[in-house]
Amino acid sequence: MLTATPIYLDYNATSPLRPAAKEAMIAALGAPSNPSSVHKFGREARLQVETARQKIARLIGGRSDEVTFTSGGTEANNLVLSGFNTVIASRIEHDAVLEARRDALLVDVDEMGVIKLDKLAMLLSGLAAEDKKSTLVSVMAANNETGVRQPLQEIIELCHQHGVAVHSDMVQVAGKYRVSFTELNLDFATVSAHKIGGPAGVGALWCKAGRRLPAIIRGGGQERGMRSGTENIAGIIGFGAAADAACSEIEAEEISGNLAKWHATLEQTIRAACPEISILSDGADRLFNTTCLALPQIASQTAIMALDLDGVMVSAGSACSSGKVSASHVITAMGRGDLAPYTLRISSGWQTSEAELVTLAKAIIGLYKRLS
Ligand code: PLP
Repeated sequence: MLTATPIYLDYNATSPLRPAAKEAMIAALGAPSNPSSVHKFGREARLQVETARQKIARLIGGRSDEVTFTSGGTEANNLVLSGFNTVIASRIEHDAVLEARRDALLVDVDEMGVIKLDKLAMLLSGLAAEDKKSTLVSVMAANNETGVRQPLQEIIELCHQHGVAVHSDMVQVAGKYRVSFTELNLDFATVSAHKIGGPAGVGALWCKAGRRLPAIIRGGGQERGMRSGTENIAGIIGFGAAADAACSEIEAEEISGNLAKWHATLEQTIRAACPEISILSDGADRLFNTTCLALPQIASQTAIMALDLDGVMVSAGSACSSGKVSASHVITAMGRGDLAPYTLRISSGWQTSEAELVTLAKAIIGLYKRLS
């Protein structure tokens, strides 16, 4: 069953570039644009960067002077995590957190992939009073593999009761949901452009007003000294345009409503036809665009290649680990290491149609019946 046009269902890895972002970026290319220059071209570039910063601030419910542009989510995570002596993180964080601080104290998750708050509380209680100021808790808002959302409000309150700062990797939530980092009372948060329909290679760290971090990239002192290097003007402009488009989508609630409905149908169809296929974190609070399946005895790589031949692109767990055929640390932390070699992640987005998810359901059912 080969589809006429390829079907892309790997948005949690990266999203197609939105037309508005592409247009804005193309328009920005060519002119000599260094926002630190005082001449006309420099001033124009500065205005474009600051306009984009305001757009990001609007998307995340924060102030523009709290936004520091980076080369992506990975750098933003590294920047904040290297600013603290002690880091506490969940076991299911993205590698951009776990590898940035291999010395982090790790908190277990339950079988749904939700952080165990009692374990976090125990670690916080065990901190010496003088260490609390130099400790950071980092918990992602939603997992890129399973889509499971964490009880962020409770986590933030718990950490603040102990006088400990909180960072959240918001890469999979920003651009999908209406959020306000200020109202959540976070201290730091990470966002990435290419997950919201902007270009890869640009992201931001949000630092609550009054908070500063030591730079990890030092030089000319750009980004208020927190991230040196001439700004990636076209990337930042594309990020701003994507943020604007995502804001409009969130306000309209049409795409999120449709995707939630279509994923529910996809899961029901697969469940009814192949009850042996497990839906990971079924029943948990999950991102509306993510379904993670385990097809017993069919290796993820085999299923992905077979679906690719059918013209449908999905992934196994995290795309950042593609090429590495190691078991997902997320599924393993949930106590389902037995399913890890067989998982498929389906993640949709702004360009996905109902027909594409219907085709995918048929392709997965056909593949399972053929290979099992
Ligand atoms: N955090 C999460 C949850 C992600 O899913 C990703 C990318 O897959 C990153 C961080 C890294 O972001 P970037 O690709 O912009 O470096």
